[in-house]
Amino acid sequence: MSQRGAPHDEPNRDALDPFGAATHAVFNQPTELADCDLFGGDAALQEGVAREGGGWASNELTALGARLGSAETLELGALANRYPPELDTHDRYGNRVDLVRYHPSYHQLMRLAVEQGLHASPWAEPRPGAHVARAARYYMQAQIEAGHGCPITMTFAATPSLAKEPEIAKHWLPKIYARVYDPRNIPAADKQGLTIGMAMTEKQGGSDVRANTTRATARGHDAMGEAYELVGHKFFVSAPMCDAFLTLAQAPGGLTCFLAPRWRPDGTKNPIQIVRLKRKMGNVSNASSETEWRGALAWRVGPEGRGVATILEMVAATRFDCMIGSSAGMRMAAAQALDHCRQRKAFGALLIDQPAMRAVLADLALEAEASLALTLRVARALDNRAADPREDAFARIAAPLGKYWICKRTPAHAYEAMECLGGSGAMEDSPMPRLYREAPINAIWEGSGNVQCLDVLRAISRAPQALEAYFAEIDSARGANRALDAHAAALKGDMRDLDDFEERARDLCDRLALALQASVMVRNAPAASADAFCAARLEGRGARNWGALPKGLDLAAIVKRALPR
Ligand SMILES: Cc1cc2nc3c(=O)[nH]c(=O)nc-3n(C[C@H](O)[C@H](O)[C@H](O)COP(=O)(O)OP(=O)(O)OC[C@H]3O[C@@H](n4cnc5c(N)ncnc54)[C@H](O)[C@@H]3O)c2cc1C
Repeated sequence: MSQRGAPHDEPNRDALDPFGAATHAVFNQPTELADCDLFGGDAALQEGVAREGGGWASNELTALGARLGSAETLELGALANRYPPELDTHDRYGNRVDLVRYHPSYHQLMRLAVEQGLHASPWAEPRPGAHVARAARYYMQAQIEAGHGCPITMTFAATPSLAKEPEIAKHWLPKIYARVYDPRNIPAADKQGLTIGMAMTEKQGGSDVRANTTRATARGHDAMGEAYELVGHKFFVSAPMCDAFLTLAQAPGGLTCFLAPRWRPDGTKNPIQIVRLKRKMGNVSNASSETEWRGALAWRVGPEGRGVATILEMVAATRFDCMIGSSAGMRMAAAQALDHCRQRKAFGALLIDQPAMRAVLADLALEAEASLALTLRVARALDNRAADPREDAFARIAAPLGKYWICKRTPAHAYEAMECLGGSGAMEDSPMPRLYREAPINAIWEGSGNVQCLDVLRAISRAPQALEAYFAEIDSARGANRALDAHAAALKGDMRDLDDFEERARDLCDRLALALQASVMVRNAPAASADAFCAARLEGRGARNWGALPKGLDLAAIVKRALPR
């Protein structure tokens, strides 16, 4: 932690400048939030990890929290976005290369993420609480920088689908599981560690991938399985330097999932050609490309015609990571706001002690804590789902709900946190603009808002036990908070009739998500935070602006708990 305090009162100018030429002294400006401990300085995270079954990882998380919060690591996040990736389609001799060059800081962040096993640890080293421990590590890492999380998440999410194909699994999984980041642009067979991307979205349809027009033609069996050739385009392919891409294409039997390598096993380049890199509002460190597939080799993953079913598990994992990533963004935004306001004075008092600002800060802190608490609860469900059908049913509904709600709350949260820093918050050398521009992205990809709401409906209509598991979770907090009891009772009534669910999807999913967050908070958070969350979010006022909290809450306690140092 930085030892420098912030001087609030103007120093004696004559003493500083005997010749009288200085225009001013810098005072009442905060020191940067750096060299802080992202685990030790986050009570909600420490408690959540222990509660949900990841307590065994706390030593490792403690060491990691200090490393990630160091000024040096924070700087990597800034640099990776200041110097965006660049595409070389050809080399100087005219050969097609499709090479994306990244700033070294991006590679350092990737290495850090892979060495922590963020891309595979629950599959490679399964144990109770593995998802919770990974979620905590990812949560801290994502506070530093979001863009490199994209290939990390895609690798993590693709693995369960690949594991189902024995030949692919034999060749690819050991190097995916390795905690080695190997960015070299060479065939997978010659590398020590591999990453996997995804190529689903086409111009005519992203949410509705059944509209894909990329064609797959069978080319017989080889050492890796059933080989095909793919011809078509993909409108979004992020992290195009990944070693292979989980791809959807139309085979004779219908929409099918494939694994397409960047290099063919014979050492020649697989013709997946990058047309251009997208110019994005956020997620700048992560290259996202448009690609053409000109007879690219790919191996079938799952049966022909079962493409959507094959990627379902993958989709659930990417959505879960969006919950982690957006919760992390909110934590960093709230931490920046809190840390600034505890050092900056206006009208004679620290901002953090000004009642109007304290209400805003408390509200931002509540949102971040409730998002993290729900995320870690879902992580536990992922850990337990194989052994416990109720946890599986719960995860089926809680993951799309959480993805929808947490990602939706993040942009407004980022904006309000930015405003807490005043003008400095809008400056590009502050982390706030990056957090702000990053905030909407998670809501859009991996199933945008409405698509998540419709997935909640699908979960409920296909498996009624999902809604039962959901209400069992809410009811486990029954009697502890009047507002939550009333909210849950009304919700149960409204959920009995799902006839016009699509039209009411936003209203119902908002309320379902809020009840879930409230129940996790009521059961686990300190009374000051849980009471404030329920009063603010379930009794109507929270629907207005940040800081519009009811009377009589212990805002000082909420703010103190959330202080990052
Ligand atoms: C930065 C970035 C990186 C990306 N990287 C990748 C990648 O690596 N690989 C990849 O495959 N894709 C990637 N994508 C694409 C992303 O997954 C799609 O943009 C997303 O799935 C939405 O598809 P779409 O853009 O075609 O929008 P559409 O499907 O046209 O959706 C537009 C809107 O309509 C809504 N909608 C859709 N269906 C319904 C319905 N039935 N009822 C009501 N509303 C509906 C959606 O919620 C959305 O708000 C990336 C996107 C971004 C922004």
